Amino acid sequence: MNLLFLGPPGSGKGTQAVRVARRLGVTHLSTGDVLREAVKAGTELGRKAKGYMEKGELVPDSILIDMIEDKIGGGHLGDGFILDGFPRTMPQAESLKQMLAGHDMSLDRAVLLVVDDEEIVKRLSGRWFCPQCQAGYNYPAQVPKVEGRCDHDNAELQRRPDDEEDVVRNRLQVYKKQTEPIVDFYRNESILAEVVGTGSLDEVFENVLQAVKETVK
Ligand code: AMP
Repeated sequence: MNLLFLGPPGSGKGTQAVRVARRLGVTHLSTGDVLREAVKAGTELGRKAKGYMEKGELVPDSILIDMIEDKIGGGHLGDGFILDGFPRTMPQAESLKQMLAGHDMSLDRAVLLVVDDEEIVKRLSGRWFCPQCQAGYNYPAQVPKVEGRCDHDNAELQRRPDDEEDVVRNRLQVYKKQTEPIVDFYRNESILAEVVGTGSLDEVFENVLQAVKETVK
């Protein structure tokens, strides 16, 4: 089962992608996570990506396409995968199609999580995470037991720098301009599944699973 998750920043695609990957036993690949780790480790990739990420801009296509090519070519995507955060532009979507075809692979489903802008700004400004174990928290839906501290290791919770409100608004503009056109690309390929991204985490999870299962029938 080869899937990709699409949706504006804060639509919950990362959270749902992790859960669905675990349930289906497939590899989860988040390009945002790979880039954040590279920035933290100060690698060449991280140095190239950092400035774009801080402003909420997209990292250049060539960098992302090389990254995904390495993963596919190196067999890192296993027997099935969920791509989370890639593709984000038309050139990325077209390259992905070619790269997969070159390895006799294709996509089964592109899952789009639909959430409106105001809800997104609200959600992202309430998003915190633990820098040690990466556990995520969301005010007011998932609040830590002790204010500002992780439930698992008591570490001080942090926010992603690109979750500040002005950067979030820029990320939304970038999404509309550069990423939304690929929704039509997958609609035309007849593999798009639109899932309402509001509701509880469990409800959205069940709806995503349902949308994915309709593919395997
Ligand atoms: P995310 O965690 O998916 O919200 O990604 C965080 C940031 O990483 C984005 O705002 C971009 O700067 C960068 N990024 C992640 N995936 C891509 C991609 N496919 N193309 C370009 N930039 C990306």
